[in-house]
Amino acid sequence: MVQHVGIIGAGQMGNGIAHVFAVSGYDVLLSDISEEALKKALKKVEINLQRQTAKGLITDEEAVAALARVRTTTGLEGFAEMDLVIEAATENEQVKIAIFQDLCPILKPEAILATNTSSISITRLASTTDRPEKFIGLHFMNPVPVMKLVELIRGIATSEETYHTAEAFIEKIGKTSASSEDFPAFIVNRLLLPMINEAIYTLYEGVGSVEAIDKAMRLGANHPMGPLQLADFIGLDTCLSIMQVLYEGLADTKYRPCPLLVKYVEAGWIGQKAGRGFYDYRGDVPVPTR
Ligand code: NAD
Repeated sequence: MVQHVGIIGAGQMGNGIAHVFAVSGYDVLLSDISEEALKKALKKVEINLQRQTAKGLITDEEAVAALARVRTTTGLEGFAEMDLVIEAATENEQVKIAIFQDLCPILKPEAILATNTSSISITRLASTTDRPEKFIGLHFMNPVPVMKLVELIRGIATSEETYHTAEAFIEKIGKTSASSEDFPAFIVNRLLLPMINEAIYTLYEGVGSVEAIDKAMRLGANHPMGPLQLADFIGLDTCLSIMQVLYEGLADTKYRPCPLLVKYVEAGWIGQKAGRGFYDYRGDVPVPTR
């Protein structure tokens, strides 16, 4: 049974995961190499809890109690007592492998180790740890407090016990799981990213403007956000890295990243987090950049 949970990486995803665990009554230990990231993460959790109280989703007392359940650290020592650790650090295989190497000797033997990777092979990551049978992909969606789904991804060695423990835990925190086999980008991003990449090709080929493409998909396909707005929200660097994983992992030219996406990333126009992507966010209202 999972009682103590730890999270490594306090960025966009790590703070959202911490939020959801804390609201569900779990004491959370959130770790990052950056003190600054931890400070920002706690602030973000606080703001999002306030948002939920304003909407009447949780009470003021529940929000205060949830925030008090999140502890932060720049080290890994506190992870010795954890039953489940979720790695949500930067999407870079070498970074993740280095974290597992430092973490595994500290973890108790029965602890489950999960990764929130969007695209890296679970089987390959598991093989770098001392516990491939207790290793699993738990892919939360952004923004975590709002999105219902968590993809559950078994590596080739993941045990049934690990899978069922993770599945029960996801249910306990009020999320719904969908099972995905361990193939590049799993289910959601395998479908979503080629659509976003195609929207960028549509822009690149001059079929429509940023505004026309987003409007078309919002009003014509009932998507809550247009694909280019969504790309900015996810981060164009992340979009490109997922397309590269699909392209290389499936060896099919249909996943070729659009050259315009590459150009935006090279310019550092990587979306909302950078202030500019397919829209410019530096003014009062987002303005299309093409
Ligand atoms: P982010 O850049 O916002 O945060 C990453 C954090 O990891 C940073 O705070 C960084 O300081 C920290 N970090 C880097 N190296 C570390 C180390 N060695 N030890 C501890 N912390 C370290 O990234 P994010 O968007 O939160 O993504 C995190 C993970 O979640 C990635 O694997 C990503 O693919 C996945 N993911 C992202 C999204 C999304 O929409 N952004 C959705 C689902 C899954």
